[in-house]
Amino acid sequence: MTQSSSLDVIVVGAGVAGAGVAAELSRTHRVALLERESRPGYHATGRSAALYSAIYGGDLIRALSRASRPFFLSPPQGFAESALLRPRGSLFVASAAQAAALEAFANLDDVAPLTRRVDAAQALAMCPLLRQDYIAQGVYEPEASDIEVDLLHGGYLRWFRANGGTLACDVSIEACERVGDHWRLRTGGGVFEAPVLINAAGAWADEVAALAGVAPIGVEPKRRTAVLVDPPAGVAVDSWPLVIDVEEQFYFKPDAGLLLLSPADETPSAPCDAQPDEMDVAIAVDRVEQATTLQVRRVRHRWAGLRTFTADRKPVAGFDETAEGFFWLVGQGGYGIQTAPALSRVAAALASGLAPPDDVAALGVAAADLAPARARAARRVDA
Ligand SMILES: Cc1cc2nc3c(=O)[nH]c(=O)nc-3n(C[C@H](O)[C@H](O)[C@H](O)COP(=O)(O)OP(=O)(O)OC[C@H]3O[C@@H](n4cnc5c(N)ncnc54)[C@H](O)[C@@H]3O)c2cc1C
Repeated sequence: MTQSSSLDVIVVGAGVAGAGVAAELSRTHRVALLERESRPGYHATGRSAALYSAIYGGDLIRALSRASRPFFLSPPQGFAESALLRPRGSLFVASAAQAAALEAFANLDDVAPLTRRVDAAQALAMCPLLRQDYIAQGVYEPEASDIEVDLLHGGYLRWFRANGGTLACDVSIEACERVGDHWRLRTGGGVFEAPVLINAAGAWADEVAALAGVAPIGVEPKRRTAVLVDPPAGVAVDSWPLVIDVEEQFYFKPDAGLLLLSPADETPSAPCDAQPDEMDVAIAVDRVEQATTLQVRRVRHRWAGLRTFTADRKPVAGFDETAEGFFWLVGQGGYGIQTAPALSRVAAALASGLAPPDDVAALGVAAADLAPARARAARRVDA
């Protein structure tokens, strides 16, 4: 089966990044979306903590998150059967020893307008689980939300199919080469050819580049662990915000009547089906127990996933400067869900030879900030 002549773009990887850019492009282009697993979303996208916070992450991530909010609040007609965001709030907390870190964070130009400072008593009122002898002050972001990740990801895939896009799962790429002005991918499911290849393979992005004979960008997959535990007996936790240490040593949030805890670990990993390490599970429990009065008797569920970074921890969306038609969409780190709406639109524009959309550019996001050359340069400095 050859699908060659009918395609403009091939997207590799059907996590939220690949699904998002494929959906945006399918409005104007003929697109195939290839996924190696039997279902899309099996890796990072299906393992997140589902947080939307416009003050979480570095400055480029924060801008992309802010630019994503209108889409979350008002997606295209028919995109999802219910709201993509549910109110949660985020509370960045600091002990007395972390006062300087909290001060610097709270005073960032884009953080201050979205937040209010809270003292220990106000923080305790929001989350009575915090230990009085731990919490000194906090920063509260009322607009932080839980993301309905399945609705977002599923919405992109449905939109993509409705626009005539082809999703192929269980696809393994056997060979990938540039032939004339096309990329030709030989897979177990047939041959796919298109002038543009978008690499949205998450932790495997450098491997996909290697298949295509393209130099790596230096993605760094890092494992993060999450566990679900019972809240204290008889305590209703659903209205609590996500509570996160200002230096990101841990976070916890209500999750369907339970509490989700994470040690905010970043353990370097080869690309793989990440599994939780018992030590990280123990650290998650210990860090949250030290900051709260919670006593964990049993871990109900545990999982891990790979958050994939570039050397400077900023995402990349752009054509490779050394390989014609090869487009990278990688390095979303721990923020790939909350930035997906804006990053998908920016990537679709850049892959079509256009500038980033005006509303995203107005928040200071330029094509050069997202260029593969930027990430490669940061990697050289790092080495
Ligand atoms: C514990 C945890 C908590 C997180 N919390 C949040 C959060 O609260 N908010 C937030 O915004 N983000 C969060 N993230 C980060 C977020 O999950 C990721 O940034 C995002 O899912 C990345 O999406 P992706 O599509 O790039 O990667 P993935 O979802 O990993 O998708 C990449 C896909 O490419 C496929 N693939 C790889 N190689 C090939 C190949 N050769 N051929 C075909 N397909 C291939 C893979 O099978 C995979 O499906 C969290 C992540 C973790 C692990």
